Amino acid sequence: MATAPLMDAPTRTIDPQEEEAFMDAIDRWLERSVIPVIKHHDHNDIWPEALVHEMADMGLFGATIGQDYGGLGLPATTYAKIVMKISSHWMAITGIFNSHLIMAAAVERFGTEEQKAKWLPKFATGELRGGLALTEPNAGTDLQAIRTTARRDGDDYIINGTKTWISNAVNGDCFALIAKTDPDADPRYKGMSLFIVDKREGSGLSVGKKFDKLGYKAIDSAELVMEDYRVPADQLIGGVEGQGFFQATGGLELGRINVAARGVGLAEGALRHATQYAQERETMGKPIAQHQAIQLKIGDMATRARAARLLTMDAAEAYDKGERCDMEAGMAKYFASEAATENSQEAMRIYGGYSYSKEYDIERYYRDSLLMCIGEGTNEVQRMIIAKQHLKKNAI
Ligand SMILES: Cc1cc2nc3c(=O)[nH]c(=O)nc-3n(C[C@H](O)[C@H](O)[C@H](O)COP(=O)(O)OP(=O)(O)OC[C@H]3O[C@@H](n4cnc5c(N)ncnc54)[C@H](O)[C@@H]3O)c2cc1C
Repeated sequence: MATAPLMDAPTRTIDPQEEEAFMDAIDRWLERSVIPVIKHHDHNDIWPEALVHEMADMGLFGATIGQDYGGLGLPATTYAKIVMKISSHWMAITGIFNSHLIMAAAVERFGTEEQKAKWLPKFATGELRGGLALTEPNAGTDLQAIRTTARRDGDDYIINGTKTWISNAVNGDCFALIAKTDPDADPRYKGMSLFIVDKREGSGLSVGKKFDKLGYKAIDSAELVMEDYRVPADQLIGGVEGQGFFQATGGLELGRINVAARGVGLAEGALRHATQYAQERETMGKPIAQHQAIQLKIGDMATRARAARLLTMDAAEAYDKGERCDMEAGMAKYFASEAATENSQEAMRIYGGYSYSKEYDIERYYRDSLLMCIGEGTNEVQRMIIAKQHLKKNAI
């Protein structure tokens, strides 16, 4: 059954009533289609094909893509609220449209007019889906250490190298992939370029090892291997070599807001489950919620979840105003991801022995939350970004 579009394409500043209707539609979708199938897909690591079709019908693959290209053009604030809501039940599925939207944002912000016209409408409908291919076996945080090369040959580039941990690598079609067009450049970032790579075209691009993960199940994470893989030169984003590092890291602001929003969802979801359980479970003749030791946990969890939401909305508002927000996005990502891990661990304690059973949802929050501290720049790196910006603003 086709799911109706959530709304007509709105402007980037959204009317509060329109946003409420949008969020109600997400609630109905979660109740009807998502919640009943989470355990089956998560426990068996099955890609949720039917849900992906429904996401496309609702316009989620075009959520932040401009209306001119067929997207919903949602502001980051609304987008963050959607991600929070979905993640409060099942974080992993937001990865299916998030890394896709970061790829789309790179094309929309930095692509040529021809590239935008060619790719964005198909990304917006979900006809083509994908993600971001930055990480390599030897280079995650140190992105400038990548070894993948792209050598110009006539009207093509020939790409060689291996990307790893790429979300949607198996089930996606297109990737914004970073490679060295000048491996000898000094500084290193000046030799890096970002390409739109379409897995369906040409030969020499294959999916390598698929990872068996602790959590973040149902969404695929795998290697992409390029062996003399030819990409047409008009798929170099922006048409000029050497811009890739800034194009790739520029998109990470929205990516960090998204991870922060996922963290908020996980922190709030763990709190919701723990709050209910604590009022149902009795020891010593009363619900455990009436023991002070449990109240202290719930007090901390509620405070963390609220602070994480406020920081994330603050970063999203700055992003919507077009302001540089790497510090705000970094703070939100750092705090919300730590809140997610702390809240899910505290919820595990509140559930006692039952937390260890897969019959309950809470163990999934615990497994999924740990990724939030790693993705889109580890929390160690976030703290360094925050400190650098803070020191710059307060230089004496
Ligand atoms: C499930 C999953 C999905 C992912 N999806 C994608 C994807 O879609 N696309 C993609 O490109 N990548 C993806 N990644 C990769 C992810 O972005 C990297 O794992 C992350 O950037 C960290 O890189 P690394 O694993 O190489 O760790 P490393 O960079 O080796 O870091 C190891 C440790 O050292 C610390 N460290 C590193 N450098 C410094 C420094 N200068 N100062 C202080 N501490 C430092 C780190 O914080 C970390 O604690 C994914 C990863 C996972 C687990």
